[in-house]
Amino acid sequence: MSSTVITNIASLVTNDPSRESADSPLGLIQHAAVVIDGDRIAWVGESSSAPAADNRVDVGGRAVIPGFVDSHSHLVFAGDRTQEFNARMSGRSYSAGGIRTTVAATRAATDGELEANLVRYLSEALRQGTTTFETKSGYGLTVEDEARALRIASAHTDEVTYLGAHIVSPDYADDPAGYVALVTGEMLEACAPHARWIDVFCEKGAFDGDQARAVLTAGKRRGLQPRVHANQLSYGPGVQLAVELDAASADHCTHLTDADVDALAQGSTVATLLPGAEFSTRAEWPNARRLLDAGATVALSTDCNPGSSFTSSVPFCIALAVRDMGMTPDEAVWSATAGGARALRRTDVGRLAPGAYADLAVLDAPSHVHLAYRPGVPLVTEVWRRGSRVA
Ligand SMILES: [Zn+2]
Repeated sequence: MSSTVITNIASLVTNDPSRESADSPLGLIQHAAVVIDGDRIAWVGESSSAPAADNRVDVGGRAVIPGFVDSHSHLVFAGDRTQEFNARMSGRSYSAGGIRTTVAATRAATDGELEANLVRYLSEALRQGTTTFETKSGYGLTVEDEARALRIASAHTDEVTYLGAHIVSPDYADDPAGYVALVTGEMLEACAPHARWIDVFCEKGAFDGDQARAVLTAGKRRGLQPRVHANQLSYGPGVQLAVELDAASADHCTHLTDADVDALAQGSTVATLLPGAEFSTRAEWPNARRLLDAGATVALSTDCNPGSSFTSSVPFCIALAVRDMGMTPDEAVWSATAGGARALRRTDVGRLAPGAYADLAVLDAPSHVHLAYRPGVPLVTEVWRRGSRVA
């Protein structure tokens, strides 16, 4: 294994808690260098005291951040929903089937088509600095289609989530209890070998609190760890259930009572905010400031999916979170890196400190603040994953 020193870094985000300051959680080092040994970080510090390495890369006064950890996406699908988006944004009514449209297209696609689509969006995300991705099933809704989505996803990421409980399958429109029995029975058995996580969309029109509890507890018994789509469109039991079941993350958290905020602040469940969804549906923003002030851990993620948030850009989500959700630029960058890692219960990504994976992004800017200050500008110029330059 060879070693590489990346030097002439104007500003380095480490997310190392021992380097945290009163004004920033990012553990910043100015005039910094990073030494990579194999696929791991071996050393970080000031350039002037960097140890020797086999190779030297000069980034010319740019900022370096940990690769983004996108802890919530739905990338195993076929088709798109351009017309639905266009109608919604044009104020026209549109009677397509929403998620059902994607379910029909996904079921009709070949394995090769689904995998090519997944790889396309993962590559797109990687070029924008995302080095760890979670992705879910949820557009198959049959035993075979859910298992194949997870099998395809698991060839490309370790963070795979079984979301058979995305909506009640159209095949069970008159028998939601029968569908929950399938999701917690035969479908779970077929899916569990390919997944690390189990998720449920706990929402009016999807699954209620009792159904969500049944799904998550069945998954836990089968060795999957819970995460929950919670409180996106309305107030509801999702967040409390997530905390009670020690879910790694409650995702969306747009409609929260004070009791929900307190539960998140006291438990170890991360509040994952997905502003691409509110952007793409012109919905009310989640209040990140309220969660942070209460002491909750906040992650930021894309929710990349063809219906309600078709962006793979974490920098775009950072800009929205700063502009509209009350986050400081430093908090938003932390949430999109270290916060995402917390939401996946990982300690080997989302930070640049000795022992962590050498996953990082070089920005064509002197500071990470430019991610929010220069919205929409493609600032990520280089991406390193597991110690190799990949984009
Ligand atoms: Zn989602």
